[in-house]
Amino acid sequence: MIINLDEIDSTNEYLKRMSNDGYNSDEMLVVTAQYQTAGKGRRGRSWVTEPGTALMFSVLLKPRLKLDDCSMLTLVMALAVKRSLSDMDIEAMIKWPNDIVLNKKKICGILTEAIAETGQMIIGVGINTNQESMPEDLSLSATSILMETDDCIDHDSLLDNIIYHLEKLTQSVYDTGDLSLLRKEYEDSLVSMNTAVTVLDPAGEYDGICKGIDDRGQLIVEHEKKETRVYAGEVSVRGIYGYV
Ligand code: ATP
Repeated sequence: MIINLDEIDSTNEYLKRMSNDGYNSDEMLVVTAQYQTAGKGRRGRSWVTEPGTALMFSVLLKPRLKLDDCSMLTLVMALAVKRSLSDMDIEAMIKWPNDIVLNKKKICGILTEAIAETGQMIIGVGINTNQESMPEDLSLSATSILMETDDCIDHDSLLDNIIYHLEKLTQSVYDTGDLSLLRKEYEDSLVSMNTAVTVLDPAGEYDGICKGIDDRGQLIVEHEKKETRVYAGEVSVRGIYGYV
């Protein structure tokens, strides 16, 4: 089912309220909004777009995974978006764990939230589709598909295709309980694969070489001749010279 809204605080918050009010179905529920007054990123940061110019939606689902494993679905959604853009001949890359980049700038952010009480999960997505420019403070790290390709994106068909891929990809994760079948495809799309990255860990920043992901979606970084597993929770990863 898809609910289309004109304006909302945030599509994730809308679904959280639905879940708290008792909505609990095995089917995915999708909500889209033309405009979010309080769009969210990770760790309390904000997500900003002009009305109608971006595809913003959230999906409420009941993952057949342990709560601890649900963060893998962030990477699964990134693959669903990447595959859908690829179907339109737009070759974007993934910046682990939750961003899609085009020409090294961010065109999509993904915010996954688990609702422990109900075992449900919300995956929110914002894709910069048809903006003609970016706000000045984001212009070094962010762009839109229109700005990069001159293609104007039809939101309904892009969303349908993302949901199609998401359903297929989640099934593969439920079958194995991990990302083993998707790992290669994700690594082939990983913008920093085999390159130098800076891991912005609140416990201490360090540089290393990105070696891919493990079957649970943790980033593998070679640092001081040892392989470190980076868990997405509190950490951001940058290219050594900039955002990517
Ligand atoms: P990081 O690599 O820093 O961890 P992130 O992917 O976790 O990035 P999010 O929390 O998903 O970042 O997104 C919030 C950030 O995205 C904001 O701090 C802001 O810099 C940036 N941002 C906000 N709106 C947009 C937008 N429309 N397009 C691209 N980036 C945006």
